Amino acid sequence: MPADPSPLPPFSAPYAPDDAAIAARLLGAAKLGAAQEARIDRSARRLIEAIRANDDPLGGVEDMLREFALSTKEGLALMVLAEALLRVPDARTADEFIEDRLGQGDFVHHETKSSAFLVNASAWALGMSARVIQPGETPHGTIGRLTKRLGAPAVRAATRQAMRLMGSHFVLGETIEAALARAQPNSAHPPRYSFDMLGEGARTTEDATRYFKAYASAIEAIGRAADDRPLPGRPGISVKLSALHPRFEAVSHGRVMSELVPRLIDLAKRAKAFDLNFTVDAEEADRLELSLDVIAAAFGDASLAGWDGFGLAIQAYQKRAGDVIDYVDSLARGLNRRMMLRLVKGAYWDTEIKRAQERGLDGYPVFTRKAMTDLNYIACARKLLSLRPRIFPQFATHNALTVATILELTGESTGFEFQRLHGMGEALYAQLSEDRPDLAYRTYAPVGSHRDLLAYLVRRLLENGANSSFVALAADESVPVATLLRRPAEIIGAPDGARHPNIPLPRDLYGLQRMNSRGIEFGERAALHRLVSEIAATAAPAAASANATPADANASIAAARDGFKHWSRTPAEMRATILEKAADLLEQRAVPFIALLQREGGKTLDDALSEVREAIDYCRYYAAQGRKLFEDGGESMPGPTGESNVLKLRGRGVFVAISPWNFPLAIFLGQVTAALMAGNSVVAKPAEQTPLIAAEAIKLLHEAGVPASALLLAQGDGRIGADLTAHPDVAGVVFTGSTEVARAINRALAAKDGPIVPLIAETGGINAMIVDATALPEQVADDVVTSAFRSAGQRCSALRLLFLQDDVADRMIEMIAGAARELRIGDPSDPATHIGPVIDAEAKQRLDEHIARMKQAARVHFAGTAPEGNFVAPHIFELSDAGKLTEEVFGPVLHVVRYRADALGGVLQAIERSGYGLTLGIHSRIDDTIEDVVDRLQVGNIYVNRNMIGAVVGVQPFGGSGLSGTGPKAGGPHYLARFATEQTVTVNTAAAGGNAALMAGGE
Ligand SMILES: Cc1cc2nc3c(=O)[nH]c(=O)nc-3n(C[C@H](O)[C@H](O)[C@H](O)COP(=O)(O)OP(=O)(O)OC[C@H]3O[C@@H](n4cnc5c(N)ncnc54)[C@H](O)[C@@H]3O)c2cc1C
Repeated sequence: MPADPSPLPPFSAPYAPDDAAIAARLLGAAKLGAAQEARIDRSARRLIEAIRANDDPLGGVEDMLREFALSTKEGLALMVLAEALLRVPDARTADEFIEDRLGQGDFVHHETKSSAFLVNASAWALGMSARVIQPGETPHGTIGRLTKRLGAPAVRAATRQAMRLMGSHFVLGETIEAALARAQPNSAHPPRYSFDMLGEGARTTEDATRYFKAYASAIEAIGRAADDRPLPGRPGISVKLSALHPRFEAVSHGRVMSELVPRLIDLAKRAKAFDLNFTVDAEEADRLELSLDVIAAAFGDASLAGWDGFGLAIQAYQKRAGDVIDYVDSLARGLNRRMMLRLVKGAYWDTEIKRAQERGLDGYPVFTRKAMTDLNYIACARKLLSLRPRIFPQFATHNALTVATILELTGESTGFEFQRLHGMGEALYAQLSEDRPDLAYRTYAPVGSHRDLLAYLVRRLLENGANSSFVALAADESVPVATLLRRPAEIIGAPDGARHPNIPLPRDLYGLQRMNSRGIEFGERAALHRLVSEIAATAAPAAASANATPADANASIAAARDGFKHWSRTPAEMRATILEKAADLLEQRAVPFIALLQREGGKTLDDALSEVREAIDYCRYYAAQGRKLFEDGGESMPGPTGESNVLKLRGRGVFVAISPWNFPLAIFLGQVTAALMAGNSVVAKPAEQTPLIAAEAIKLLHEAGVPASALLLAQGDGRIGADLTAHPDVAGVVFTGSTEVARAINRALAAKDGPIVPLIAETGGINAMIVDATALPEQVADDVVTSAFRSAGQRCSALRLLFLQDDVADRMIEMIAGAARELRIGDPSDPATHIGPVIDAEAKQRLDEHIARMKQAARVHFAGTAPEGNFVAPHIFELSDAGKLTEEVFGPVLHVVRYRADALGGVLQAIERSGYGLTLGIHSRIDDTIEDVVDRLQVGNIYVNRNMIGAVVGVQPFGGSGLSGTGPKAGGPHYLARFATEQTVTVNTAAAGGNAALMAGGE
């Protein structure tokens, strides 16, 4: 009987600790004796030679890489083709896609280096296809001689066949039955398998149910087919938690625990019934703590007592890997049970680096040098081996040096196993099992349709085709074996060599120019809890000042006119320093601002955090830009000798800044800081819905050093805005809001007699996204849901009009609607909330009216339900024609329009006809299509194969054209200059005493 489990505190370890400290520890522990090192050299060399000598009749990843390295155009073209071709249902798009991709590589002249069948077949089919389709020709356009003879369908069929061939090599079977039949359980030495049901993570409850059923029936089939060997020799199954729940994310912790844990227990019980090995795959770092909570809860369930087959994968590229092993071991010890632990290096490295950079974390959760991953892998292997027999280590790697090192560490031949992926590491493991038949080996075998497989294959190719990857280096004969034998400890050398010199820390992403704003990883429980409790403890600020009267408005302008005299003469360097001080203060006081954004603006936690970060980025970005542009000496212009010509920028005078409620901190501060940096004084009028945030922001700028006379606040509604802009002493207006109000301001400015002053307006848009049949539905669902519904659709960049190619529209709509159903709507102070309230009752009423109209006029694909209060649930309507949406609907309402593959031109026309040009999304794998759309449409911000919101300051300068605004873009390099006036100073340096400088030049 298991011991009475004492509840183990949840897993906790520093999320992204310093690399050098870890390196110091690992380097100290890495030493082996000379004889041991020599043995490692010998066995690794033998394995590498076996890999290089291999030319098996099929050829694996190694052969594919040898043939089409990812660093070549052909390799990349092939990968993109493989990822998408088989999911394209219609011939026209498939043809365009094939032409687009094959046009990018030189397949025709590609000489096949390998005699491997698979590689040859692919190269042949692609070579043939490429010969048929010349770049620039379309199968439906100028059709070449060969196409005429063969016809586009033959070309398409050949290319699809090549992709299938590539795919089929890495999948054991399209169904579990086929896979089991191929696994040969009846042979004399049947290999161990762990079956994996392919597919992207679940986006909908239906997906999760489908994956659950697939796992359950696979367990049944595997169990029935298994022979009578005991564990650990029994077959197994690998499950992904993200496939079993549509919102497998840290902020949905409560829901995940109550819904996913019972599902996992259910599957584990089924696996237990056949005494199988049941492994939970390792996923992204931000899901690690959540995964361990789920695993601990499931593993601890009494129904699983007495079974030793439960396990999980641990990634050595994560800095927390050693802590995870300790935690899992305590879990097993506490329950007096055994566990099987698969040690991998990790499959999501590039994603982890990008995410940490985007989030502005203090460090990375993964190592940045491969040798550190390798070093940590060995350290973890030692730890696992020392925990036997409670822990059964499973070493999953295709790296000959890693394998050889583990062989040296184990000494004995039992109590662990090696694992490889089906279709990979074949030569290495063939040699090893010949040399060491006493060891146990298991193959991880993907099962699924070719459609699903290709995305998996591409991930494997990416991971193993990286320059640093062992498989890629082993495939490259020009790399000496001695290079492959270099020990990780030798490569790292000393602790200060632990970090990659070319991968900056997330905070240093923008180099010396400015610091990236600090973010928080919600996947780190301690950080999330700290944030939530600090927000809860924040006191509300005192009520905002009263609304300004017309007399106050006049007085503010007059004060700002006075303030301008001093501020415009404050050196640019000092103005920049003050803005940087403001950024630092904002970063220190992020929590009260987040709290206020939640209370006053109804922002969800992630929206509020992003907004504070954006405001910080504005301050730092404009400071950096301003230093360059407003340098006090000015910019010297070239010209004739004997005179100096200098161009200077200087402030215009009093700027009126009018900002909206949807970004009450970021847009408010963005406008104000730009105007200030340019040397203007500012009267800022925030939205009447969010006065407190504005008041706090102004206080902060004053504290940072902006004189009170250079920055004044005028609270109130549109009337006060109108008074301010109509004032004769206003030198410029910066406005973000509706097109209608922008027009009114423009007219008011035009009606004045004084100088003609600039208006910088950023207005709305009927933003569209175009999705063709090559797009990945899961990615589309994620990006559409985020773009249309995040922030309750109250972003000017939000998606309003989704154009779906009709061949894939039904499937896409089903997934998008299913994903929308999973969003939680409610109290924004709860971190689990995805959608908070709309800004006020008036906004709700407008949206409700639109929804009611649409329910009559359009086809309803999804109508969510919202709680009481100012909440509006997501809705999805299908329109017969894009022209039916005539105005910007500022809320979580998505309008879908289908288009035929041959009618993309009509879609572009419809977008143009709207007159707006703010943001646009494109989901396609066809570069030609993307280029055509980008070229044709004058839209300010275009996002390809990602969501279309959340522009980052200085990275995606933001703003549109046409009805969407005047430009220049906020957060871009041309913005500040628009707030300034120019002055050229020409001095005749020869006036007094002649051109001495020229005369002194000599011969
Ligand atoms: C049986 C099996 C099961 C698997 N299950 C999982 C799983 O559940 N979850 C999962 O994530 N992966 C899983 N993998 C994939 C595994 O992570 C990769 O196969 C593995 O990364 C390749 O390691 P290697 O030792 O074969 O190759 P190597 O080439 O020696 O190592 C590649 C590793 O180094 C890392 N790396 C590359 N560059 C750097 C750098 N600059 N800094 C730091 N690290 C770097 C890569 O990300 C990769 O992890 C599994 C693999 C196998 C064989």
